[in-house]
Amino acid sequence: MPQPKVDEWRSEARQWLATVLEPRRAAEPTGHTAADLAVFHNLTDKEERRLLDRCRAYQRARHDAGYQALTLPRENGGQGLTAAHAAVFAEEESAFDVPPSTELISVTVRLVAMSVALFGTPEQRETYARAFLRTDLLACQLFSEPGAGSDLAALRTRARPDGEDWVIDGQKVWTSGAQFADHGLLLARTDPHVVKQAGITAFLVPMDSPGVEIRPIRQMSGGASFNEVFLSGVRLSDALRIGRPGQGWEVATATLAFERTTSGSGNRRKGGTFDDVLGLARSLKRTHDPLVRQRLADLYVRGALRAATVERVARASASGGRPGPEASLTKLMASDLLTRTGQVAAELMGARITADTGEPGTFAWTEHLLGAPGYRLAGGTDQIQRNLIGERVLKLPGEPRVDKVPFSELPGN
Ligand SMILES: Cc1cc2nc3c(=O)[nH]c(=O)nc-3n(C[C@H](O)[C@H](O)[C@H](O)COP(=O)(O)OP(=O)(O)OC[C@H]3O[C@@H](n4cnc5c(N)ncnc54)[C@H](O)[C@@H]3O)c2cc1C
Repeated sequence: MPQPKVDEWRSEARQWLATVLEPRRAAEPTGHTAADLAVFHNLTDKEERRLLDRCRAYQRARHDAGYQALTLPRENGGQGLTAAHAAVFAEEESAFDVPPSTELISVTVRLVAMSVALFGTPEQRETYARAFLRTDLLACQLFSEPGAGSDLAALRTRARPDGEDWVIDGQKVWTSGAQFADHGLLLARTDPHVVKQAGITAFLVPMDSPGVEIRPIRQMSGGASFNEVFLSGVRLSDALRIGRPGQGWEVATATLAFERTTSGSGNRRKGGTFDDVLGLARSLKRTHDPLVRQRLADLYVRGALRAATVERVARASASGGRPGPEASLTKLMASDLLTRTGQVAAELMGARITADTGEPGTFAWTEHLLGAPGYRLAGGTDQIQRNLIGERVLKLPGEPRVDKVPFSELPGN
């Protein structure tokens, strides 16, 4: 099927966006609330559910109008468009007031839905991937464990075959949005007698299954966006296995590449932006200070470089809807920009950043500062992105690997 011409498609997308969203308002120079600049929400369950409903209404409209999963091949349930169409949609969308999204919405639509669409059976695509893309069902990512974060392939959660079923035992941690999710994309060890990456299988776990216990973790920024998830004798039908037994590492790396692209490029507002810092500098009457001007210019240039890199990576991304290792570049640039934005705001505010003085817009920046470090960890830490860029993009020699033996022979197993 021929691709629609990008310029014509752009104006159709813009017209559609105008039917469901209001144009974006200019950044307010002062009077930010904590919620405006917070990287992570600090909401009650009721408020979080209300926010999820707002996000879901937009995601459903977007799906039904044909603007979801733009680059995913048509046979996998996407639109089969090019990275250029996706970049154009993001650009057009950024001119509108998109409902503030949540971690769980991004994980559902941009990570789990994409992985189930790529690795699932036709039935799983029809039942789950479609429902995740429309956010009719919400899904979290059950990957990290207390002893397996950067070294995710060292995970110990076990899935043992039992007749037509699997029985799962283990613990996951830092699971964003688990308390509101219907399903979780789980990685579990199904074969300890092969090298660690080869013995992992992916499953879709209904979060209300007997034996699943979710414990929210309170963050320093106040909210509880992520959780510990304990799995004790959880029985799963083989129909909920995603991909082949032993294909879990491929599912994981594809999902993480989507996560890096999402962290690096999405329109979802996380924390303060350049415009917000500029507004702060103006409200403090500091824009004539040459040092402040230099800091602001540096931030602006880094933002522009990030935007250009997002576009370049999107255009060069692998065919078939899967991002390549270059996604690590944009993830790294995005987390760096988030950190620097907070640092410039903190320099402008001085000691006032440390307390909630009630002055308009001040505690809001504290919320930014407390949340920003999270994005230097989520989806693979800065150091891990640098390793990936070194090894897979620049083709530098790899780190020494001492674990190329069956998982069961590694120390501690
Ligand atoms: C906001 C947020 C949301 C998250 N959401 C989810 C989620 O929904 N689902 C999920 O499964 N997980 C989630 N995580 C977990 C996240 O993926 C892990 O925190 C991350 O992969 C790092 O793992 P770790 O915390 O175990 O740190 P560790 O792996 O213990 O790392 C500790 C430190 O050592 C460094 N390090 C480790 N190995 C190397 C190396 N080879 N070279 C150089 N430095 C190294 C790291 O960079 C880090 O500084 C989330 C985390 C955050 C912060």
